[in-house]
Amino acid sequence: MISIEDALQAVEMNSFEVSKEIKIPIEISGNSILFSDIYSPINMPPFSQSAMDGYALNFHDDFTYTLVGEVKAGDSHQPLLNKGEAVRIFTGAAVPDSANTVIMQEKVVARKKEITIEAKLPIGSNIRLSGEQVKKGQLALKKGTKLTPAAIGFLSSLGITEVSVYKKPSIALISTGNELVEAGQTLSYGKIYESNSIMLQNAIINLGFEAVSVHKVEDNYEATYNKLQDVIVKNDMVIISGGISVGDYDFVGKALKGLNVEEVFYKVNQKPGKPLFFGKKGDTLLFALPGNPAAALTCFYMYVYIALQKMSGSRDVSLPKVMARSTSGFVKNGDRPQILKAIYKEGQVSVLEGQSSAMLQTFAISNGLIKMAEDLKQINTNDIIEVILLPV
Ligand code: AMP
Ligand code: MG
Repeated sequence: MISIEDALQAVEMNSFEVSKEIKIPIEISGNSILFSDIYSPINMPPFSQSAMDGYALNFHDDFTYTLVGEVKAGDSHQPLLNKGEAVRIFTGAAVPDSANTVIMQEKVVARKKEITIEAKLPIGSNIRLSGEQVKKGQLALKKGTKLTPAAIGFLSSLGITEVSVYKKPSIALISTGNELVEAGQTLSYGKIYESNSIMLQNAIINLGFEAVSVHKVEDNYEATYNKLQDVIVKNDMVIISGGISVGDYDFVGKALKGLNVEEVFYKVNQKPGKPLFFGKKGDTLLFALPGNPAAALTCFYMYVYIALQKMSGSRDVSLPKVMARSTSGFVKNGDRPQILKAIYKEGQVSVLEGQSSAMLQTFAISNGLIKMAEDLKQINTNDIIEVILLPV
């Protein structure tokens, strides 16, 4: 059995980028990671732009300027201004080369043919200079940048329509268990509704991954072996739920052995999620998560998350953490380090009741996890503790 820290490190060290480059239209690139640096094909802004609705001036010593025209957003003409002349101008319009300052309309008294300004202002005011944000040929975004809405907007503003990104890993989810019935079917005695695959599938999709195939197998060696053999060759990551403990009907460990999957670790000193398995076969990473739903999801966010980030070329491989003041107390039961479900809000955190690995109701309302070290016996109200923020 290894420690949480060693397990986290082992996941990070054994996960690699699915280092295939694909070119995709920018419309579908959300959450992808740039495979290469992007240099700007244009100056941004492409011309000197007015940042205000007002007047573009060719400065002189007086406060009064003669109006000689108008430029609105999208116009392509270039009025020529002599000293003491001005044009009406609007936000986003091209500032004529012969103007050197824009004054906002609120600071001007306008008459038909001339304007009077209230006060002088520095030359260059209210003009967004051509290339001010990024110049043609300069680095726009670095390899490894995540394509957030802002990043996609920025690249589109440079006229970019296609991006080269890391191929996202293809992921297979397998849930095991004779007791599992699909929601919508009748629940006969002894059966429960299967919930791990839809839960994990949503967790994966929430993180911006798409290619998830979902499989079910009964508690049977042959079926488990065959399903695993098939999905390992077809996927970059395989996530199994259930069947990894030591019961007579837990066949995942035996099937993984039978298929010569290399074990990186099996069993982590933690609660929930002790029987977690992590291994690899060729370039495929495998996680076998305990079947108890809250344990499965905890292990997903603690460990699988890191592997997914690394595989997709991301630079930030861990979930964000914040320090928070506890508004509740919690007494740890037993010696194992515990990972607790909690609610974080504005610098405060409350540890929830109902921490059992079989209970999802608590997880359903939590947005953070707290790692409680082995030697820590309790959390007291007002303690300052670290919270792992969940991507919910
Ligand atoms: P296991 O890890 O297979 O021993 O399962 C541990 C507990 O989790 C048992 O109570 C299972 O019924 C439950 N469980 C396993 N897989 C699922 C699943 N896919 N959906 C909901 N509960 C599950
Ligand atoms: Mg089972």
